[in-house]
Amino acid sequence: MLSNLLNFSGGPGALPASVLEQTQRAISALPDTGLSILGTSHRSDWFKALLQEAQDNIRGLLQVPDRYHILFLQGGSSLQFSMIPMNFAAAATAPAEFVASGYWSRKAIGEAAAVVSARTVWDGEAEGYRRLPAWSSLQRSAHAPFFHYISNETVEGLQFTGAPESIGVPLIADMSSDFLSRRFGIGDYAMVYAHAQKNLGPAGVTLALIDDAMLSRIPGGLPPMLDYRTHVEHGSNYNTPPVFSIYVLNLVSRWLRDEIGGVDAMEQINLRKAATLYAALERQPEMFEIHADPGSRSSMNVAFRFRQPHWHEPFLEHAREAGFSGLEGHRSIGGLRASLYNAVSESAVQQLADLVDDFARRHG
Ligand SMILES: *Cc1c(COP(=O)(O)O)cnc(C)c1O
Repeated sequence: MLSNLLNFSGGPGALPASVLEQTQRAISALPDTGLSILGTSHRSDWFKALLQEAQDNIRGLLQVPDRYHILFLQGGSSLQFSMIPMNFAAAATAPAEFVASGYWSRKAIGEAAAVVSARTVWDGEAEGYRRLPAWSSLQRSAHAPFFHYISNETVEGLQFTGAPESIGVPLIADMSSDFLSRRFGIGDYAMVYAHAQKNLGPAGVTLALIDDAMLSRIPGGLPPMLDYRTHVEHGSNYNTPPVFSIYVLNLVSRWLRDEIGGVDAMEQINLRKAATLYAALERQPEMFEIHADPGSRSSMNVAFRFRQPHWHEPFLEHAREAGFSGLEGHRSIGGLRASLYNAVSESAVQQLADLVDDFARRHG
């Protein structure tokens, strides 16, 4: 039997047990209203209060200043790949700039290039996306309408440690797979976005934090659903929002605040989890290869593979029998991947490290 406690899926990711329990009750009837969350109107006062609480919790967890709008959008992070250039680069005279650090940034660049002019300032493809560039090594233009990067490459397991230095260009980051996993200075960014299904909740809602100053750059004539101002003006309640997803996201934000103790505490836990698993893999250098170079390794997604591919299936089989799931690598690079999202406990990661040790002892 697979176990929720040993779910290392790359996404949708694991959710905390207490959140799953509350969600189960809410599907029957919300304690506050007696109605199922699935049949609760987005025009109800209850839902308006929920939207407000979810925003307040995110604001509190990351100390987000009032000048940032916090939006709940649909279409996943993928829709942001084209919405961002449509809103912020349509009238630009210089290309929008991007770092191509892996699978997801390639997608972001491809989709932006379909609507505006896009320039890749660094591309890790020739090296197989095993490392990230030093920010100081990039040749960026001060005229770009924005600079976009992916803070954590979910597939290859690469994570930037901090934001690039400002050259006066609006900075936009896709933090889908590491949002709320560690503290960051929102003040460096014009916009940050993250869909819920890796660290924040179920699929269906995408969080966007946008500096109010960016709204004046949006051209007229966009379809309303694709214009950020629509969602700002309607408080993320323009058309029917994903009520259920926002409900669960809010439970996760409470869990992070009340049970974990906030983002700093979460970051310490996440660093210990990553150290535990990387150390187990590094104890077996003959058997395992870690995809990312040491300086670029992600604390959220650990991508690795057997040096001898014939161990791949037996390992997965053994892991499944022991209750683990989600350890298959992304289809684009194969191998294995353990995603150590916030809801994956230290105990679960220790059990995975033990599994790795044990497998190596028996077959190494
Ligand atoms: C998973 C992922 C996406 C894709 O998100 P969707 O919500 O499926 O569109 C985008 N960016 C990153 C960094 C991801 O990890």
